[in-house]
Amino acid sequence: MFHADYFQFELLSTRPQLLSGSSFNFPHDILSFSCCDSIGTYGVFYVDNTKSIDLAYCCASLLAASLTPNNYGQISVDLTFPQNSISVSNCHCNACSELNYTYDIDFFTNNLLQLNIGSELEYYPQILSYVKSALRRLKANPVVSDLITFVDGLNIDTNIDETVNESWEGSPNILIINVDEKASR
Ligand SMILES: [Zn+2]
Repeated sequence: MFHADYFQFELLSTRPQLLSGSSFNFPHDILSFSCCDSIGTYGVFYVDNTKSIDLAYCCASLLAASLTPNNYGQISVDLTFPQNSISVSNCHCNACSELNYTYDIDFFTNNLLQLNIGSELEYYPQILSYVKSALRRLKANPVVSDLITFVDGLNIDTNIDETVNESWEGSPNILIINVDEKASR
């Protein structure tokens, strides 16, 4: 169980179409473009039985909230993880293989690398185009440049809606992890 903001939890667990893209001009379907619930997830670090730092990971849609507020604001709720220990199961479309939750950081990492968490952006040019615009706004560094080169190399038309992408202000916070051994130097 952990504390979380209810509004954030509701967005991540129900993944609605956005009415407005906020100041970052998010695509309206940034939460809903994929069938996979692991688009909206929580990861909580904790100290496990062996006194090592571990990770509890879960799709937001499978967490239970302690209450349902009847107004919006900064409302903190308790979110509870499912009781079973380890689960790999299919997405509710019954086609994608998806990790719903785990309490083991190594199991999480392996599934992330096997693309069982989140969605493959190459099937969603609109979202990929947004990600590319966001990358271009970051301070140049080898990891970011490699990623932009990789996206360009996919040969997918990511230039749709460039004008929309140009109109947003600032730069969102982005965590990029390069897991390509060839590229890490
Ligand atoms: Zn699916």
